[in-house]
Order: sequence, then C-alpha cells, then structure tokens
Amino acid sequence: MLSLFKSKTFGHGVHPPESKETTRKLPIRQFPFAPLLRIPLTQHLGKPAQPVVREGQEVVRGQALGQPDGYMSVAMHAPASGVVKRIGLMPSITGQMVEGVYLEPYPSSSQEVLEGDPVDVTASKEEIVAAIQSAGIVGLGGAAFPTHVKLNVPDDKPVDTAIINGVECEPYLTTDHRVMLEQQADVFMGIRYVLKVTGAERAIIAIEANKLDAADALRQNLPDDLEAEVLVLPVKYPQGAEKMLVAALLDRQVPSRGLPLDVGAICINVATTAEIGRLLPHGRGIQERVVTITGPGVEKKGNYRMPIGTPLRFIMDEVGVTDDLTRVFMGGPMMGPAASSLDIPVVKGTSGVVAFTERETGKVLDRPTYPCIRCGRCVDACPMFLNPSELGVLAVNESYQRMADDHHLMDCFECGSCSFVCPSNIPLVQYFRMAKTSVRKAAKAS
Ligand code: SF4
Ligand code: SF4
Repeated sequence: MLSLFKSKTFGHGVHPPESKETTRKLPIRQFPFAPLLRIPLTQHLGKPAQPVVREGQEVVRGQALGQPDGYMSVAMHAPASGVVKRIGLMPSITGQMVEGVYLEPYPSSSQEVLEGDPVDVTASKEEIVAAIQSAGIVGLGGAAFPTHVKLNVPDDKPVDTAIINGVECEPYLTTDHRVMLEQQADVFMGIRYVLKVTGAERAIIAIEANKLDAADALRQNLPDDLEAEVLVLPVKYPQGAEKMLVAALLDRQVPSRGLPLDVGAICINVATTAEIGRLLPHGRGIQERVVTITGPGVEKKGNYRMPIGTPLRFIMDEVGVTDDLTRVFMGGPMMGPAASSLDIPVVKGTSGVVAFTERETGKVLDRPTYPCIRCGRCVDACPMFLNPSELGVLAVNESYQRMADDHHLMDCFECGSCSFVCPSNIPLVQYFRMAKTSVRKAAKAS
C-alpha cells in the first residue's frame, strides 16, 4: 500500500526542540552485562510477579524469575545466565523500595537465550494472550501497561483499527526510530499477532515526518498480505499520546476518561509490537530492550539493546558522563521522571536515559517563578483542551477535589506542554501530578 502524508493532526500541542540528530543514525548496539543486575518484580501496572527462584539458584538467560500473580500481572525473565544473589528490596524510579531479584551474571554469560514452546500466529486468541503475558510483555513506550490486557479486547467493544505507534514525539529519543529501521520483520510479525488477537481489520503504522527514512523503509518492505499501511504525521508534541493519535489518524474523539477502545481502536507502541513478533515465535520472554542513552551530559551517546535490570550507575560508567552532569531522566525530558538515584535500574518501560548538565537544568531550575500573567499560552497548548492556568490557581489553593469535579483534572495526562510554554515558569504539570495523586488517595480512602 502507499505511504501517505497525513497533514491533519490533533488540536493544540507544542514544538519543543527535537534534539534527535545525534542518535537517530546510530545503529542499535548490544550493551554489556553489569556485574549485578537489579530486576524489580514490579515493572508494570498491576500486581508484582511472584518470584519462582530462590537465593543461590543458578539461572539461565531467559529463564522465568517470576510468574504473573493474576491477570493484571506479567512474568519476569533472567536477563543473563548467572546466580540469584538475593531477593529483596531495591530502589525504583517512583522513589519507593520494591521487591526484586539481584542477579550476578556469569562473566561468560552469552547472548544465547532459553526458548520455550513457540506460539505462532495461527494459535487461538486465548493462546496468544496467554503467551504475551508469559513473555512478560508490557507497553515499552513508557506506560508499562500489560500488553495482554490491552489486546484482550472485550466482545462488546469491537475494534476496526490497530494503531502501531511509531510517533516517538518525546525529544531526544530515537529508540522506536531505530527499531523501525532495524527490526522490520519483527514489527510485521507483531502486527500479525495484534490483528489476530484484537480482530482489527487493519493496522496503521503512525510515524512523524522527522522519521521519513523509517516510513519509507517500512512501506517498501510491507508484505503484500498484511493489512497495514504507513501514515506520516506532521511533527508535534504530544502526538504519541493515544487520544491524540486516534484524533489525528481516525478523526475520532476518545471520550473523557475513556479509551481508544471506546471508539473502535487500539494503540500499541511499535517496539512493543516488535517484541511480540520477536519473542512469541520462539517461546521466549522479554529480558532486554532498546534504550536511547543521550543528552548533553553523555559522552558515548547511542541506541543500545540493554539487559533489563542494568543500574544507571553502570550505564553512566560505560558511556562516560561530563563533570557537570546534574540530572538524569528516565524516558524523555517532557514526560520522563528524573532519577532520584543512580542505583535504580533500566526496566521494561525505560525507553531512554537522557542526561542533562548544569547548562540545561540551570536554565529551568534556577529560573524564578512569576505570577500568572493570563497570557493564555497554556490554554492554547493543552491537547486535552483544559485550562491549565485556572487549574494552577486551584492547585495553589489545594482545591484538588474541585479541580477534578469541575475542571476535568483527571483528563490531564501530564504531557508537560503547559509548563513548557509558560513564560512565568509556573510548574503546572508538577502541580497537577500532586493534585491527581491527592484525588486518587481520597477516592481510595472513601
Ligand atoms: S500537562 Fe495536563 S494540563 Fe498541561 S498541557 Fe498536558 S494535559 Fe494539559
Ligand atoms: S502560560 Fe503561565 S502565565 Fe500564561 S496563562 Fe498559563 S499559567 Fe498563566
């Protein structure tokens, strides 16, 4: 099918500097094993995996370390052959300590990986859903939502379109870009599974216009018998967000607090799709992922296939950092959280590690905050058509419930566009994160 350029996009949005030039052309390289891997049993939304190994046990690369604890949970696999040194608490990106497996890889641990029973695309929907859960696959774009749950579409919500999200609108990140260039067979195979499981009639691979080489390569190699097309969208942040993508591609509005499923679509990240296509035909589990390591604070920037559980400190030692490194983001700088410690590991949802120096962070962190001047820029930027200025005033007054009840706070998906454009440097998105946490806690307590 023809690749089309779709000039239509979602409403509002912003244009932060893309900053992808340095790594976009760098092929994916294998990252070495750290001397001690830290594999949290919670790397996904839902219940932690239940450990199925004991301290002192030898494991082989790809062996299950943890099995899903119920439907809303996924398996964990050994990223290297080695010895389980300890099962215990470890720091996580949320700042909380979580249970996990400390694994000491053998110096000789090779890239060979344990294989299980293959599940091919002719298997039943139930078998494929179970295989995705057993493979431990979650949304690799950052959300880490269990993929088997997302794809297990209920009968009363028929889906006609599967959107394969290769937009990668976060500045600096080039993970999905490289996957689309280097793992096309995996992407196409993954799409076959996605179509089979969801019952969607067609797939759209969505790509922004700053990755035309990937769009062209995918278009040229698209198998004739695959009901898929490649659509190129104008560059705009946060176009990779599900609701924005559905609006841009299908002209459908996902309702407030709703899902793409409510309008007949599902969205799945392109790297997640590639993992389905790479792992299921071999009965393997996910034990590594592609991560962009970049930012002005990094010397050896690149796109690396990284064992899950690699601690940030080891990454920084391997790639080399500048003396004035001040802040490291897990994911892109717009939505990714800043790492509170270098002891936290790369997990399945880590699409990038972006390191900034004093030069960049000083510009933001040392800038004073001024009162709102009612310029309306945040209102023009918000892709959810909220009024961040008004919400900001309510947040300062701690009127969190009012923000939710009367001003659609819970529709905010923390894209950071409002903070990005605010000339008064008001930390709007931080206010909204805090407010949402408070509203959720209150709802739980009631
Ligand atoms: S962070 Fe929330 S309020 Fe701000 S622009 Fe994004 S969706 Fe709108
Ligand atoms: S962008 Fe900042 S200053 Fe302008 S209206 Fe919004 S909150 Fe106020």
